[in-house]
Amino acid sequence: MRPRVIAIDGPAASGKSSTAALVAHRLGWAHLDSGALYRAVTLAVLDNLGEPGALKESLAVPGSGATWPVQQIVALAEELPVRLVLVRDVFRPEVAGVDVEEPIRSDRVTRRVSEIAAIREVRHWVNVQQREAVLGHPRGVVVDGRDIGTVVFPDAPVKVFLTASPAERARRRLAQRGGRIDPDQLRREAETLAARDHADATRPVAPMKPAADALLLDTTQIDLEEQVRQVLALAREKLPG
Ligand code: C5P
Repeated sequence: MRPRVIAIDGPAASGKSSTAALVAHRLGWAHLDSGALYRAVTLAVLDNLGEPGALKESLAVPGSGATWPVQQIVALAEELPVRLVLVRDVFRPEVAGVDVEEPIRSDRVTRRVSEIAAIREVRHWVNVQQREAVLGHPRGVVVDGRDIGTVVFPDAPVKVFLTASPAERARRRLAQRGGRIDPDQLRREAETLAARDHADATRPVAPMKPAADALLLDTTQIDLEEQVRQVLALAREKLPG
């Protein structure tokens, strides 16, 4: 049987999570932000496995593995544990029983998350958590990320890949944080997003890319309500009953 999943993938700040949350709410489904789980593992690593400097050095050689205690990361995630907890139809990230939705959004975590997410064993562990969460849900789950339609739920009946121009994505990210936006700030934010997208799209394991059967939705010129409308229209067409 096909999983009751709507897969929403796309680059950083393309509006995936906001769209996924609203689509889930309108359908009475749950929302799972897979990036939150990678972020929670990254937070746990930074807090428990040493200094960011040491982390950078040991991960600097892609695939070196020898110096980086990969098994230790997964063991740590199991032990603490890092997990997803369903609260009013939203899967929230927890570390050692504490909700970490806020600290996982810090710059400290954002700077490091793509390095942790590039590790094959970490991805395997995260994927198991996601599949268990979806299996245990009685209705359906809207899952957003980078590899949901390609790797985690390749049989998802509804797949969307959201994009938007780098400048628009940077503007939205800064607007979310509030305050005035100056051109320098905008340029720096666009560069930071582009670096993370490059890392996510070029890694050997589960790189970010649209599934062959995904609807490509460029949101540069459309607002959130219109994005949600288009995803819901596709869902009505594709979902049985
Ligand atoms: O979605 P968000 O920007 O919070 O994701 C943080 C990071 O987690 C991404 O930059 C990416 O490295 C990783 N990620 C991933 N696969 C997913 C979701 C997130 O590699 N399905």
